Amino acid sequence: VDSENPKGLSLFTPGPVDLSGPAGAGLLEGGLHHRSRDFERTLEHLERDLKVVFVTANPIATITSSGTGAMEAVVGNLFAPGERVLVPVSGKFSGRWAEICDALGIGVRRMDLTPGGSPRPEDVVDLLREEDSLVGVLLTHCETSTGALTDVEAVSLAVRDFSLGRGRRVVTCVDCITSLCIDEFRMDDWCVDCAIGASQKGFLSPPGLSFVCVGREAADRIGGKRGPRYYFDLRKYLDPSRRPPFTPAVHLVGAVERSIASILGLGLPAVWRAYKASAAAVRFAAEGMGILPLAERQAGGIVAFRLGNLDAGEVAGALRSKHGIIVAEGQGELRGRILRVATMGKGRAEIRRLIEALASVVGEMGRRVDRDRLDARLDRMLEDCAIWESLR
Ligand SMILES: *Cc1c(COP(=O)(O)O)cnc(C)c1O
Repeated sequence: VDSENPKGLSLFTPGPVDLSGPAGAGLLEGGLHHRSRDFERTLEHLERDLKVVFVTANPIATITSSGTGAMEAVVGNLFAPGERVLVPVSGKFSGRWAEICDALGIGVRRMDLTPGGSPRPEDVVDLLREEDSLVGVLLTHCETSTGALTDVEAVSLAVRDFSLGRGRRVVTCVDCITSLCIDEFRMDDWCVDCAIGASQKGFLSPPGLSFVCVGREAADRIGGKRGPRYYFDLRKYLDPSRRPPFTPAVHLVGAVERSIASILGLGLPAVWRAYKASAAAVRFAAEGMGILPLAERQAGGIVAFRLGNLDAGEVAGALRSKHGIIVAEGQGELRGRILRVATMGKGRAEIRRLIEALASVVGEMGRRVDRDRLDARLDRMLEDCAIWESLR
């Protein structure tokens, strides 16, 4: 039972997640005034560490809002009403980019993909070639509704090459909310123009803060003539003389700053390896129960499964009532058909507990569970997840 969770329930959900020890401690400390020198230092430290996380030299805006606020800020600041962007849609969160564009009067060329799929670079470039007026591509690194990972490196570099060839700059924006501190991401090396994160996923922190990292092309667009904006005017957040522009959630800044520093202390490559290992172990275990993963390219933080003839709601209910484990169900058209398991910050014992619980629940529902297969391989598969044990 997690000490951070007084009800004794473990969250295997893709945000909010069980808090890291340092996030909990940072929250309680809190109490900084946002115009004090101490707070300024905390914010500077947070944004310095965020640059390490985004693997970038670009500036970062810290906004008090959940992740969707950062998405809206990016759309409203980089694009003007009437401009058109390309949005590959493979689930609820990539679809949200399109909804925000609709709401702000930005034109959308949708590229509809099957659930579990991710956009291929050649298909993205084909559409850019087909439609001259597209000025941006909005990507979702990890589509949290299916666990699918986009090959951002390949897509973004293909968009950059296309731009150079045409002499027409198309900017790439990436929602990295469920991939930062989880899956490998390199903003500058991959030529991403704008990337966003939020506090309640891989940062193992409470919800309430979001982050926008702005490259040079994106900064040029932000300075241009755009639609109406006030609270989400990124110019205010990026202007060094007026930071922060409004009262930020000061306690959250303290919590996220502590949590990210401790995660970076583990080493980002070790963190990426740990998530690869946990996703592979959960997929492997589920396959031994006849439960099939949905994603073609698997993300590290969340695995979604098709349950076949089992009812997803019943499985989730039994995990909660009999084992104190909370997992997520499908969203939108996938409701009732899939189960989603997030392993953010989970060490070996917790992932084992989840797998044992799942085996017990589906076993009681009549599924054959290959226990020998689990016992033979699981310990070795989970070795890299040991890093989390020092964060508790
Ligand atoms: C969680 C999440 C968001 C943001 O959701 P909020 O509830 O606004 O924080 C956006 N994109 C993805 C991929 C997410 O997983």
